[in-house]
Amino acid sequence: MSATSLNTVPFVSVDHMMKLVLEIGIEPFLKGLAERIEADFRRWPQFDKRERVPCHSAEGVIELMPTSDGTLYGFKYVNGHPKNMKEGRQTVTGFGVLADVHNGYPLMFSEMTLLTALRTAATSAVAAKHLARKNARTMAIIGNGAQSEFQAMAFKALMGIDHLRLYDIDPVATEKCRQNLSGFGFTITACKTAEEAVEGADIITTVTADKRYATILNDNMAGPGVHINAVGGDSPGKTELSRDILLRSDIFVEYPPQTRIEGEIQQLDADAPVTELWQVIAGEAEGRKSERAITLFDSVGFATEDFSALAYVYDLARKTGHYVDLDMVADPDEPRDLFGMLLRADKTLKAA
Ligand code: NAD
Repeated sequence: MSATSLNTVPFVSVDHMMKLVLEIGIEPFLKGLAERIEADFRRWPQFDKRERVPCHSAEGVIELMPTSDGTLYGFKYVNGHPKNMKEGRQTVTGFGVLADVHNGYPLMFSEMTLLTALRTAATSAVAAKHLARKNARTMAIIGNGAQSEFQAMAFKALMGIDHLRLYDIDPVATEKCRQNLSGFGFTITACKTAEEAVEGADIITTVTADKRYATILNDNMAGPGVHINAVGGDSPGKTELSRDILLRSDIFVEYPPQTRIEGEIQQLDADAPVTELWQVIAGEAEGRKSERAITLFDSVGFATEDFSALAYVYDLARKTGHYVDLDMVADPDEPRDLFGMLLRADKTLKAA
């Protein structure tokens, strides 16, 4: 790795990201990331916000997610293709850029497949910290794919969740999840049905992938006092909860204009009441109203969370050295002599 100069930009590959997370430690990394996400939610009005820009196809979606706090700019490219898993590919992949608003130069390129799983889990755990019952210890995870272990680890790190009840329509996924999490101090129950998984759960995480209006949770599966962390319903026509649950829940969302298009609440009227998560975090709105209330975090993933994650990794990558410099920005000796730089390169190549 060389020292970063004007024309080179740090690039954090998948390999770098793994080394970085492992060097810091999975739980400390998630805790630090959650702190950064929470701090950025607290200064929500400072961010430039818009719905993400989707490109839908019959089989999935590709999205761009930009935001800025006036000093830094970030965006993520992310896809969601539930059919990918059967073809040996990830359902969700991503990469992102952090840039300097002052001069527009990129500051970092990063893989964001791992980072999305980490930031989604950290955001879910931040929401639950503010919304779930304080004595929550047991979480059901329905959908035991790529995101699931990250969710479990973030809820352990932030909430002290130590009992997991796992269910997936594919028992191979549940066994993979159980084995991956076996060394982390959880008591794990593999369940045969979603109904069995939610028995006695204080928190229910739904994190399935299916491009349709699915009903992972029926109305009678959400008992009083439960917190629902609904992660998998994140695109038009792609939901996980029965509408009746929404009608009985206090609903918390990231950015309402985006969630009304993509979240569980696409099943409700356009003016259905919701509370913005940042308001609860900033102490401007009430979270859980009673021990018997059902709270629902209708997670779809918002650009500020990726911004927080990129900024967090930018600091850590420079501290740990887990990056390489890419020759990404043309840097002629005289800024207006871009063409001359090309001609000089031609001469050098011909002389070689
Ligand atoms: P994945 O394909 O790796 O895993 C999905 C799992 O869900 C699979 O194991 C599958 O068998 C299981 N499943 C499908 N239908 C089911 C059902 N009816 N009951 C139980 N299990 C079922 O996908 P992933 O990367 O883990 O992502 C999961 C979901 O989370 C996707 O829908 C993705 O779009 C979403 N996601 C949301 C956010 C966010 O910020 N809200 C971020 C990342 C991913």
